[in-house]
Amino acid sequence: MDEKIFLGEDEIPDKWYNIQADLKTPLDPPLNPATLEPAGPDDLKAIFPMELIKQEMSQERYIKVPDEVLDVYRLWRPTPLYRALKLEKALKTPAKIYYKWEGVSPPGSHKPNTAVAQAYYNKQAGIDRLATETGAGQWGSALAFSTSFFDLECTVYMVKISYEQKPYRKILMKEWGADCIASPSNITQAGRSILEKDPESTGSLGIAISEAVEDAATHDNTNYSLGSVLNYVVLHQTIMGLEAKKQFELIDEYPDALYGCVGGGSNFAGGVFPFVGDKITGKKPDLDVVACEPMACPTLTKGLYTYDFGDTARMTPLLKMYTLGHDFVPPPIHAGGLRYHGDSPLVCKLVKDGDIRAQAYYQNEVFEAASMFSKTEGFLLAPETAHCLKAVIDEALRCKESGEEKVLYFLNSGHGHFDLASYDAYHQGKLVDYEYPAELVKQSLANLPDTGGK
Ligand SMILES: *Cc1c(COP(=O)(O)O)cnc(C)c1O
Repeated sequence: MDEKIFLGEDEIPDKWYNIQADLKTPLDPPLNPATLEPAGPDDLKAIFPMELIKQEMSQERYIKVPDEVLDVYRLWRPTPLYRALKLEKALKTPAKIYYKWEGVSPPGSHKPNTAVAQAYYNKQAGIDRLATETGAGQWGSALAFSTSFFDLECTVYMVKISYEQKPYRKILMKEWGADCIASPSNITQAGRSILEKDPESTGSLGIAISEAVEDAATHDNTNYSLGSVLNYVVLHQTIMGLEAKKQFELIDEYPDALYGCVGGGSNFAGGVFPFVGDKITGKKPDLDVVACEPMACPTLTKGLYTYDFGDTARMTPLLKMYTLGHDFVPPPIHAGGLRYHGDSPLVCKLVKDGDIRAQAYYQNEVFEAASMFSKTEGFLLAPETAHCLKAVIDEALRCKESGEEKVLYFLNSGHGHFDLASYDAYHQGKLVDYEYPAELVKQSLANLPDTGGK
């Protein structure tokens, strides 16, 4: 029995899959917050290159991956699909567990799949510098890595609490040539206004987005780069699900249930959308697709489905999504990542339509699952990823009771080598299971933009 299913370098898919082509009803458009009219290319071109804006709105089912992007992908792609035989054995489950392993990329996660593409399209458009935000540093390091191939400068606004508590990703970004700044900073208006109200602010992803967007909007040679949420990010990430589909074909299997963790939704969508396409077009109507999130930031399970800003400073277009409110900041005690207040509009719509379901988990049970994985399969997972591992283990144990030989697949989005402090806190019993912060959510939902019923 094969434990790893490989593809050759010449088998990397040369097109991305755009699920917009297969949606039963079209996505609600992003809105210009001032006019409440659909945001068009003109609303976006100050901060994004036209090729990406076209991809954002495209209804084409397949979009060609440029050769220059494939050339960089080939450094670590195709990534292996693993059968988790040792985990299955430890669980004594008849279920088969497969995972697509993205920890083999140089930055250690799925994120360079879009970062490389974004660096390429911006370089093509004549841009000199990219500005972005990063939470724990995975996205910032992926973009720093990617810009280094295309001779672009890179400025990363890093959420201050991570900048201080997790210095190693910051060093990695510098190693790849990026400028990494703690956010809120005093070099943007957005940062300064937060610091005036709260000089001790530990920052949030939303605040850092505002700083990066402002930087891009106020410099002609600079564009903004976002690591998740947007449709084109999800598009680029489908390279993973397309590879996985080929790998399952090689072994003559097709998953019954698919899992991924959701922060902004990009690894989940990238890993599962090529399969979800089969579900919504009726080829595989019974697929169970599960989006996994933390109880401390329960966007899909407790958020409202409505228009909201993508960022705290209300600079981005309004996106129709599940949201906890754009000024929601999860408690700092939460160690498992996945802290964004909203989610990819594509993922949200599929949850709303009932094609995907969502589950939320406490952080101790998540780390317990991760710990079982490192002791059986050997890889130390990112705490983010461990949210969906927890769901997979629960299902595998359910299969043990029922005797079902289900095929379970999860997108294993990255390694946790920079998260050892969180693992340490878990082992010392210092992690608190943060209950759903109902009061915080209520407060931030009170500040949703008024879209007059749209
Ligand atoms: C960034 C990250 C996530 C969460 O982001 P998504 O856009 O939801 O994928 C999950 N896992 C890893 C390893 C990450 O680096």
